[in-house]
Order: sequence, then C-alpha cells, then structure tokens
Amino acid sequence: MVSFDFDDKGIVVPCPSCGQKNRLSYQRLGDPVKCGKCKHELAPPNQPIEMKSSADFDRLIAQSSLPVVVDYWAPWCGPCRMVAPELEKVAARQAGKVVVVKVNTDVLQDLGQRFGIRSIPTLAVFGGGRELTRAAGARPAEMIEAMIDQAAGSLHR
Ligand SMILES: [Zn+2]
Repeated sequence: MVSFDFDDKGIVVPCPSCGQKNRLSYQRLGDPVKCGKCKHELAPPNQPIEMKSSADFDRLIAQSSLPVVVDYWAPWCGPCRMVAPELEKVAARQAGKVVVVKVNTDVLQDLGQRFGIRSIPTLAVFGGGRELTRAAGARPAEMIEAMIDQAAGSLHR
C-alpha cells in the first residue's frame, strides 16, 4: 500500500529516479508520463493507494479515466487482511488499466456512511463517476478482476 498526495487535477507521485514530484492527471491516468525533470518514465500506480481524505476520493471518482476499485477496510478486520494481498496482485497486474484505492472506514467514516457500507471488507468498482458494482467479503484476485471486467463492460454498453 502506498500513500500519495492528491490535488485538484491528479495524483502527485515522486519520480523513482530523481525524486521530483509529478502529477498523474486524473483524466489521463492510463497514459504514459515522463518525469518533468529527468524524463524518466513514470509507471502508472501499481499498488493500492491509501485515500487520505474524502475530498480526494470524490475528485478521483469524478474524474478518473480508469475504473477505480475501492477496498473499504479497517485495521482490526481479519478478512480485510486476507483480501489485502489479493488487491496488491490486482493493482500490479492491472497497472495502467485500473486504479486500486483503499478507504479505511475508521478514518474516513463519512465515506462509509455516504455509500452505506455495512460490512467490511466491501469491494466496489467505480467508473464514469459512479459506482458500477460492489461485493461484500474477501475474494481472490481472479474474482476481483472478473468483477472489474463485468463492471467495465456494463459501462461501455
Ligand atoms: Zn525524475
């Protein structure tokens, strides 16, 4: 799990080569980006990103060019710990195609309430600014990927 800063227009990530902060625009999240300083190619996010605020979450959901997989979780939840490595696999395998974020419902309680999350873990897929599907309970990476495919398919129909 990584923790990036978010701003109005995108996700702010440090260049792995020179440390320069670069913005990955929400609207072009799947596109290749080069570091503004050293031109090193910046890989799209390939790990689950921890959300620090609900304002960041809302901006990402509203503007993301890629489907966003949301893991609602909390540190005390056993099944959440089981699903965490599965989400890491999904984030690595689907880098550049989906964005995986984690919402700690103890910290961002307003999001849990707004989306009516009654049990954790709950996994949801957002696309085109809205929630497309959700499922409660831990599941393997393959099933999460199937959820994403199904949801993304429904978006394009
Ligand atoms: Zn750089």
